[in-house]
Amino acid sequence: MLRCRGWSPLAAAAAAAASSSSSPSSRERRADLLDLPPDEADVVIIGGGIMGWSIAYWLKKNDTEQDMTVLVVEKDPSDYLLVAGDPPIDIQFNPSGYLFLASEEGAAVLEHNVRIQREEGAKVSLLSPEQLKKKYPWMRTDDVALASCGMENEGWFDPWTLLLAFQKKAKSLGVIEYCGEVTSFGMTSREVTTFEGQRAHLSHIRKVHIKIPNSPNTFSVAPGMVVNAAGAWSGSVAEMASIETGEPGTKSVYKLPVEPRKRYVYVFHCPAGPGLACPVVIDTTGAYFRREGLGGNYIAGCSPTEEEEPDIQDLEVDHGFFQENVWPKLAQRVPNFESLKVKSSWAGYYDYNTFDQNGVIGQHPFVRNLYFATGFSGHGLQHSPTVGLAMSELILDGKYKTIDLNVLSFDRILNGKKALERNII
Ligand SMILES: Cc1cc2nc3c(=O)[nH]c(=O)nc-3n(C[C@H](O)[C@H](O)[C@H](O)COP(=O)(O)OP(=O)(O)OC[C@H]3O[C@@H](n4cnc5c(N)ncnc54)[C@H](O)[C@@H]3O)c2cc1C
Repeated sequence: MLRCRGWSPLAAAAAAAASSSSSPSSRERRADLLDLPPDEADVVIIGGGIMGWSIAYWLKKNDTEQDMTVLVVEKDPSDYLLVAGDPPIDIQFNPSGYLFLASEEGAAVLEHNVRIQREEGAKVSLLSPEQLKKKYPWMRTDDVALASCGMENEGWFDPWTLLLAFQKKAKSLGVIEYCGEVTSFGMTSREVTTFEGQRAHLSHIRKVHIKIPNSPNTFSVAPGMVVNAAGAWSGSVAEMASIETGEPGTKSVYKLPVEPRKRYVYVFHCPAGPGLACPVVIDTTGAYFRREGLGGNYIAGCSPTEEEEPDIQDLEVDHGFFQENVWPKLAQRVPNFESLKVKSSWAGYYDYNTFDQNGVIGQHPFVRNLYFATGFSGHGLQHSPTVGLAMSELILDGKYKTIDLNVLSFDRILNGKKALERNII
């Protein structure tokens, strides 16, 4: 592993000037040189979302020699709202079970999932339709064959607060952040023969080129390792490493099958709704809802079908989608939801793995110093603490120690072996 020399403003200045994509004026150059990152880093993490910051935190926490340079590069400056001197972080955890409802068709999968969860020590109960009706009398249960409900350590929390907590702690441990967009890589490559006798190219990222904000110039960092934690945009970052495009599951091509998919969340008011007793309900139809606060408000959503996938150019909310695709499902499950008022809504991008809707985690088989933590398809928040820890072990120790995530490696895409996530919502 590259153990880089310390942050040198002079070297950085020289490198910045040398790597400028055009000839800036001296005024521009002076502005560029402010707050530049180091010219070398052991690990460059592309993406300052929850995954990037969790990986950065765990790397520094587990770096026993405490001399590793970790750089997080984030292109969106609006992601940085941290106020120094904040009180201890409260992620506003709201304990509540996740209630999954299964139709006759889905009951076997639900049972299978619960078996695995119990084997791993989770306390999850299975409910018959009768038990369900008794516990939640406000719910229609005649089309439900089986339900599962978490009994402890489940709930929801404020994701932004958790992200800030990881960021704050990681920075306090010495992680460097830089606000700029990674636009390309400098690579070297050599041809090798695989065990199967095929020719392949092993590559290495030698330079990470970062566009300096409000400037025509770029700055280059020499990385030991690069982590692609660019969420919905991680497919574009993978392409920068000349990871070819093509269909997943074929041996010769190995595109990262992750793309942005727009998803809506609707907040509605329903005074006659289930109230405090409302868990997170995942309906047989894939629609979900839960209580939001204590004033008769709820949030809900539903993933569109492949044919209904909305355009991803902007984050406009489609209100017709609620009327036609979400509300009928809610009202079918909870008759009192027939009368409700939508108060607000928002949209975001899933980092959607089109291959098997699961995370892609770990080292790339051919670009040897490129690691991935992406493709979580709507589950990245809950996975971020564990993935960060596991990635830190993989980078620092060369293997997973706490939890084996090899099943989610990039290799499965080459080999066409799906680790299918069936409960995407
Ligand atoms: C509507 C909705 C509901 C969700 N609900 C849940 C839920 O209930 N539970 C759950 O676990 N998850 C949920 N998720 C998913 C979760 O929000 C994501 O999986 C998670 O936020 C992904 O984090 P990330 O750090 O991997 O990616 P992001 O948060 O997308 O961060 C990636 C960052 O990389 C930056 N970046 C990209 N390209 C570059 C570049 N070239 N140079 C520099 N920076 C770059 C981007 O600006 C971005 O900030 C939901 C998502 C949505 C949209």
